[in-house]
Amino acid sequence: MPGQGDVAERYEAYRRGFAIPDGKVDAVFRAAIAACRERTLAHVALPAGESFTLEYVKDKPWSGYNWYKGNFTSVIQVNTDLPIYIDRALDLACHEGYPGHHVYNALIEEQLVRGRGWIEWSVYPLFSPQSLIAEGTANFGIAVAFPEAERLAFERDVLFPLAGLDPAQAARYHEVQRLVGRLSHAGNEAARRYLDGTWSRETAIGWLENHALMGPDRAAQRLRFFDTYRSYVINYNLGEDLVRDYVNGQGGDEQHPARRWEVFLDLLRQPKLPSALAGAAR
Ligand SMILES: [Zn+2]
Repeated sequence: MPGQGDVAERYEAYRRGFAIPDGKVDAVFRAAIAACRERTLAHVALPAGESFTLEYVKDKPWSGYNWYKGNFTSVIQVNTDLPIYIDRALDLACHEGYPGHHVYNALIEEQLVRGRGWIEWSVYPLFSPQSLIAEGTANFGIAVAFPEAERLAFERDVLFPLAGLDPAQAARYHEVQRLVGRLSHAGNEAARRYLDGTWSRETAIGWLENHALMGPDRAAQRLRFFDTYRSYVINYNLGEDLVRDYVNGQGGDEQHPARRWEVFLDLLRQPKLPSALAGAAR
């Protein structure tokens, strides 16, 4: 990390150089979504007419959101309150779109609601065990669609140039993001102690700055997420861990990409409880 002193500040300063300029956000997102969709369609036939619209919004507690509207359509919203860094394009395109929430919801509608007539699956209880699998698959889906080396190549050769960023910087940025990603569980601890009333807002923000390397604005946005969604926060990283362990345990590790897609897609198509996944992964 360039510079001297506090690592969180140096990381923030370094990362600022990788924000997508305002006028290029839409082009970068459309390219990212098209690539995620193409890779997903190579492994699963999606219902005819599936589509989504992309909107840019402000003043939200999240960075991206998928609103599933039924009839295989979604509205995907991207929050532009804070700078959008280049790595977020593939993250959000996969997570909210393909093979994440949009695909998950479209397959539920196709296979369960219409295919089997299970009308209760047309209701999605957000605060439920289902969300651990929904967020876990949406996050793990990033690595399914874009294994590390392929992700770096696509970002460096396609997204960096589209955003006007220097492709020569892509490899180091990718590596930094991979390492910072390992700090994600620190956020759960901040949420737990803050929601339990053990920590004040300021203490929780300070923890996120020091242990999750978030800048003050990002940490404040995260607190807003804790306030709104409370323990839902664990669905992302613990859900991803659960899904990864399960898929790997079923023979779908990185060395077996075809099997990886197969196990992953079965998780989207068939209702399962988190306890069944955890039991199988053990
Ligand atoms: Zn999500």
